[in-house]
Amino acid sequence: MDAIEAAQVLSEIGYLLRQDPKERFRAKAFSAAAWSLALQRPNLVDLQRAENLTSIEGVGEGIARVLTDVIQTGQSRYLNRLREQSKQPARDDESDLDLGDYQGDVHSHTDWSDGRATMLEMARGAQALGYRYLGITDHSPRITVVHGLNAERLVAQSREMAEVQSQVDGLTLLQGIEVDILEDGSLDLPDAVLEILDVVIASPHVKLRQEPAAMTERMMRAVSHPHVDVIGHPTGRRPGSREGASYDFELVFQEAAKRGVALEIDCDPARMDLSPEMARLAYESGCSFAIDADAHAPAEFAYVPMALWMARRAGIPRDRILNFRPLDELTMTR
Ligand SMILES: [Zn+2]
Ligand SMILES: [Zn+2]
Repeated sequence: MDAIEAAQVLSEIGYLLRQDPKERFRAKAFSAAAWSLALQRPNLVDLQRAENLTSIEGVGEGIARVLTDVIQTGQSRYLNRLREQSKQPARDDESDLDLGDYQGDVHSHTDWSDGRATMLEMARGAQALGYRYLGITDHSPRITVVHGLNAERLVAQSREMAEVQSQVDGLTLLQGIEVDILEDGSLDLPDAVLEILDVVIASPHVKLRQEPAAMTERMMRAVSHPHVDVIGHPTGRRPGSREGASYDFELVFQEAAKRGVALEIDCDPARMDLSPEMARLAYESGCSFAIDADAHAPAEFAYVPMALWMARRAGIPRDRILNFRPLDELTMTR
């Protein structure tokens, strides 16, 4: 049982707890401890032997007990109980995914919009993890509170990108955008702008509670857009605090599969969207996936290792995951 495997156990506990509003704080504590394990990757066996698990940031007595169980038995009785109670069991047809094959993240933010780090800091963070590529996908203009990027600012950003690129060996920066899917399904930037970008992630952020027929039309229009590569956090949900959009998922997923548009599994513990169950439906509909941290700071890249269990639970094999492809096979880089 290594730190990443244990992080995934704590992450799943946090995820299941999050679905009960009363457990909100405990859920956050488990997610934070999972994050800390995925970031620092401590030697758990040694720490447990020394009865020093609580020296890990975010690990108190209760979480240390859960970890001890995991380290000693390879399982968590607490997690098993939660799975049973929430009727979200493990499955015997989960896929086998090796984190070592993860080539890069295509969804990240910088201080050009609402990220908390510069592009150089984000690039160095990805480089330190051995990523081969990183998509810089700040927000589009509609998200005014975060100073979304219009065409002019995208041009300015590309100049900075060229400079940052020259400082990070081995990592290829992809210039992209997380463009808002507007209420009618059109996108928040003109085609001529989207066309020149390496990665276009189209995401629903506002008016998620549109009635399902209108929402279906909106999402169908977005997946049919010729420049869209990925649908970001496809329901917009925040487990425990905000229900996501409701639409004809099967219809939209089938269209996405037909158009070669990938669906995102956003590993941010506040999102975890698509859920494993929805991701399985998408997989069975023929979709490909992007598994991304949606990082707003370099430390958040660790969301991917801690949440990879979601893709496994969904049964998604590696050949359906963009991030496991080398750069030259990324279909989005035209
Ligand atoms: Zn987003
Ligand atoms: Zn984002």
